[in-house]
Amino acid sequence: MITASVAVPRPVRRLFTYSVPPELASLCRPGVRVLVPFGHRRVTGYLLEIGEGTGPGGDYALKPVEEVLDPAPVLDAAILALTRWAADYYLVSWGEMIRTALPGMTAVLRKVVTVTPRGRHALESGGGILLDASLPPVARDPIARDVLGILVQFATEPPSGLPIEELKRKVGPRMKPSLLSRLRREGLIELVERSASTGPQPRLEQEAALTEPDDAAGEKRGGLRRLGRRQESILSRLAEVGGRESVSGLLKATGATRGALRGLERRGLTSVRSIESPRRPATLDLSPAPLQSVTPTPDQEAAITTVRGLLAENRFAACLIRGVTGSGKTEVYLRCIESVIQNGGRALYLVPEIGLTPLLARRLRSRFGEVLALLHSGLTEGERYDEWRRIRDGRVKVVLGARSAVFAPLPSTRLIVVDEEHDASFKQDEYPRYNGRDLALMRAKMSDAVVVLGSATPSMESYRNALQGRYRLLTLPSRIGAAGMPVVERVDMREEFREVGREMVLSRRLLRALEERLARGEQSLVLLNRRGFSTFVLCRSCGEAIGCHRCTITLTLHLRDQHLRCHYCDDRRRVPAACPGCGSGELHFGGTGTERLEDLLRTHFPKARIARMDRDSMSGRGSMERLLTRVEEGEIDILLGTQMIAKGHDFPNVTLVGVLAADAQLGLPDFRAGERAFQLLAQVAGRSGRRDRPGEVIVQAYHSDHHAIRFAAAHDFEGFANKELAFRKVMNYPPYSALSLILVRNRQAGRAHEGAAAIAGLLRRIAPKGFQVMGPAPAPLEKLRGEHRVQVIVRAANRRMMQQTLSVMLEELERRSSRVENLAIDVDPMSTL
Ligand code: ADP
Ligand code: ZN
Ligand code: ZN
Repeated sequence: MITASVAVPRPVRRLFTYSVPPELASLCRPGVRVLVPFGHRRVTGYLLEIGEGTGPGGDYALKPVEEVLDPAPVLDAAILALTRWAADYYLVSWGEMIRTALPGMTAVLRKVVTVTPRGRHALESGGGILLDASLPPVARDPIARDVLGILVQFATEPPSGLPIEELKRKVGPRMKPSLLSRLRREGLIELVERSASTGPQPRLEQEAALTEPDDAAGEKRGGLRRLGRRQESILSRLAEVGGRESVSGLLKATGATRGALRGLERRGLTSVRSIESPRRPATLDLSPAPLQSVTPTPDQEAAITTVRGLLAENRFAACLIRGVTGSGKTEVYLRCIESVIQNGGRALYLVPEIGLTPLLARRLRSRFGEVLALLHSGLTEGERYDEWRRIRDGRVKVVLGARSAVFAPLPSTRLIVVDEEHDASFKQDEYPRYNGRDLALMRAKMSDAVVVLGSATPSMESYRNALQGRYRLLTLPSRIGAAGMPVVERVDMREEFREVGREMVLSRRLLRALEERLARGEQSLVLLNRRGFSTFVLCRSCGEAIGCHRCTITLTLHLRDQHLRCHYCDDRRRVPAACPGCGSGELHFGGTGTERLEDLLRTHFPKARIARMDRDSMSGRGSMERLLTRVEEGEIDILLGTQMIAKGHDFPNVTLVGVLAADAQLGLPDFRAGERAFQLLAQVAGRSGRRDRPGEVIVQAYHSDHHAIRFAAAHDFEGFANKELAFRKVMNYPPYSALSLILVRNRQAGRAHEGAAAIAGLLRRIAPKGFQVMGPAPAPLEKLRGEHRVQVIVRAANRRMMQQTLSVMLEELERRSSRVENLAIDVDPMSTL
């Protein structure tokens, strides 16, 4: 007997063996998706290996593969190896990791009904008193007999069957819902799940073509009855466009009807067939950016030469380019990609935000032409599928995408670029929580490729790797152009308060600077990393803040839509007139978010053109791009917003950046708080002043002498990194250790605590030396969407020890089949909040 080893996307970390029915044997090849029974359901599984002989427990114990969903393998060796490694590292099942690597490619199931041999027998043995005594009374029911009759007629052989909705339609309203379950219980029918669709399909369109060269057709035409005017125009249009065109395009161009075209088909003058019409992401059709031919600076040249040298060696190597904002890192990436293509290789280019892809796509297209593909979650399912196949079939040389593009089936990948490698967006914040940057390194290692990481503010992990010589460190220390780095001034808001005598949102210094920019016709950015109008609502009478009833978090007032909103679960409610706790009407709306800041700026500068960019104002598709274009074209004087304004945009006319509450996140109990604050400041400061225009940055904070703020103000990454790494070392935080967060969620607080305590107890028992278990303790966000959250933080001397110990823990749990419900493990968490 032939067997198949299958990975299923369920949280069980082993493979399952199925039998292969003879009729599917030729289709069952490693790398195809299959539909298999799993528990009481059918799931899309991934066939990994074909075997011979019996499964555990003998032939009879094996369930069969029910359908093969792909005509050809969708998983190649490189992706299989990468997903396998990632599954082990992030402690999920291989099937779950593969599903992540094939987004959208899951079969859609529907229930179909088939008639059993016993059901057939019941129908044939006649109804009423003629019914075979061995059959149940329900077989006498006339409606039941109709059902069986319809099934025999339309669902002759399994595996076909009739979809349940269709059966209901055919039988009509006479059929009670309970009838099907009765027939099923008596073994007269069967209900099974089948794939209604195997996932996205190629899009087809009809194409019309001239059957013969134009002059031959002309002769033939002469001998026939006269053609209609529209038919004549169809033929001349086709001759004009080279003999073939899509039917819809053709009819539109000529104004002819489908009937006219059919007439031509009947005479053998034209033919129509289905061809694939690939869906194209709109971004790929944006006009290519004007090609600038720049001469690399000596620093760029050195970096390019180093990467080229590494590429020539055809083995794994990693580089970290630390280049200040505007130092020309992109140019370095592009030149490296260029030499990869020249040598017959291909390259992956990962960016953290899909908002950055349009600009970059235009640049890449002007440089490399049609060989670019896009892969990110902003594409429609169909677009993504078509891009995915273009990539797999080797029709592109460069793939630009977000983190999931690390799984792109790009053959002979020689180079992987990870821009803004420090960015938290590379970590998927849902299950499975993989880091695209780290997987890029692993992918390169597995295929002897080169990785280029780039950032103005590298992560402490990557920087330490570079310091230790594991990555080649390349530095671009200065900006392109004469202007140099912006001047950063810190404003201590404690002093401001003392001098002004009241709480200020915008310091006098910043107001003056904004005024100057308006007078000079230059642009300004103002960053405040908090959405909404006021950030908390407090009762002056009882002192309670109004919180979300599902999360332990205070609600934010959004004035535009007159609601209080929870920024975690997005629950919203009307603004109350009185305190829900004590009924007092004395509510205080405190704290400033971007909405209130916008109002304030409008009051101060009524004539200025002001725009806000945050998640609330940028919800529509393409709204961010449109706003960025307006800023670029000088239609906005002041752009304010959350961290969204800090990322990668190149605004030549911005000469001032204001940062409010720069220390807001420094108080958070998270070991990366300082790193995050430094990165955000350095990134947003990088938006000020470009080329020949010097920029200015004004940073407001209560603790303006925190080292993250001080070093960011001095553009001193190395100074910050030294201090930060020393702190991490003393505290034994990553990169000096490996950290994981184990979270147990439950609607009942007691169950969550029990589960987490069981995990912590087990871990303490199996912990090797150097493995530390902290907790269980309530997570900083104790309740979220009505679920209580209890966490255990574990620390290991290194990542290998982490992986091994947690793996033993999961095996132990599986062995004892003491499943802890809603257990989530976050390996290498971006934050411990
Ligand atoms: P980064 O990615 O490091 O922030 P970019 O690659 O976006 O910087 O470069 C900033 C600007 O400088 C871009 O407009 C780019 O076209 C330009 N630029 C890059 N390299 C050069 C060069 N060697 N000579 C002139 N201009 C350059
Ligand atoms: Zn109250
Ligand atoms: Zn909530």
